[in-house]
Amino acid sequence: MAGLKACSALVTGANRGLGLEMVKQLLEACCSNIFAACRDPDGPNSEALRELAKNHPGVVTLVQLDVADPCSIKESAKKVGSLLGKKGLNLLVNNAAVLPQKTMLTATVEDMQNTFNTNVIGPLFVIREYLPYLRTAAKASGKPGMSCDKAAVINISTDSASMSIMPVLEEPFPFFPYSISKAGLNMLTIYTARDLKADEILCISLHPGWVKTDMGGDMASIDARESVEGMLRVIGGLTEKQNGGFLDYTGETIPW
Ligand code: NDP
Repeated sequence: MAGLKACSALVTGANRGLGLEMVKQLLEACCSNIFAACRDPDGPNSEALRELAKNHPGVVTLVQLDVADPCSIKESAKKVGSLLGKKGLNLLVNNAAVLPQKTMLTATVEDMQNTFNTNVIGPLFVIREYLPYLRTAAKASGKPGMSCDKAAVINISTDSASMSIMPVLEEPFPFFPYSISKAGLNMLTIYTARDLKADEILCISLHPGWVKTDMGGDMASIDARESVEGMLRVIGGLTEKQNGGFLDYTGETIPW
């Protein structure tokens, strides 16, 4: 993968969909230390990921991480921290998310809370718990500027969180809690980029396109391979110029 030189990476929601594809392509890109995090590593939805970890011992490490559970985030960070060397963590991908099909009129308190727990509060505490390792990587790199082979946080967002796109979207989009939560995630990107700038840790929101996964459905326009190839190309080319930006998998800027 051109440009991508991160030697350690952690991906949340890595057992299926875009997360699993990202682990596969990080392997192809010769990333040497991949932490594939998912909430149920022993469950039926993690079979493909278990197989991948079995075939790449010492490179792909399975990590139990339920992003909606702060204790699980803490425990996972302890485990990953004990396995990371002095080079720290180069790339953190906040990928896990949920998409309840609810409108402004049907979303319950639980729908809103659960979606925020997973899509906003989870990524926030993942960043906080893994921050020491990102800082270590940024310091250890010895390179000037910002890049993903130094230290980067990638928040997987969506164009349906764009306050410019949503009002003019012609087709119905009955995913109210999701869009609002991802707009919150985008503000988390802005804060992270601003607050971690002094540490030379970059942060962006990245839209993967409309992708054929369980979430995107069969009618989606691209498959997971194309989406992740594009996203890793974008991630590999990031510099401080894109810090705090909102990009899609082709590298185009998305209006907030
Ligand atoms: P999928 O529904 O296919 O996969 C979602 C992943 O998130 C699964 O691995 C799931 O794990 C995990 N997950 C959900 N809740 C939690 C939790 N509490 N803790 C840990 N993991 C959790 O979605 P995609 O792969 O399509 O989506 C990946 C990312 O891309 C998401 O952030 C999504 O919002 C974004 N996106 C996707 C688009 C698309 O068209 N597909 C479009 C725009 C954005 P489990 O198996 O345990 O449920």
